[in-house]
Amino acid sequence: MKVECPNCKKNVEWSSASQFRPFCSKQCQLIDLGEWANEEKAIPCAANKDQELLALPDIEDIEALLAEQGDDFFQ
Ligand SMILES: [Zn+2]
Repeated sequence: MKVECPNCKKNVEWSSASQFRPFCSKQCQLIDLGEWANEEKAIPCAANKDQELLALPDIEDIEALLAEQGDDFFQ
């Protein structure tokens, strides 16, 4: 069975002899792991931003809620 190296698309034999499978070499494995690590670092920042955005309701939603409450809400 052969697989494609995710980095350089070279055919790699899927066997215990291919130490770095699915990568063709340690170099390709390290390059891919490095890219993965960079993405990992980026994801929490993006997730936090999304959470902050979700935590802050849209001003129009607040105004709509206040309008639904009616005048009694402000007394
Ligand atoms: Zn490769």
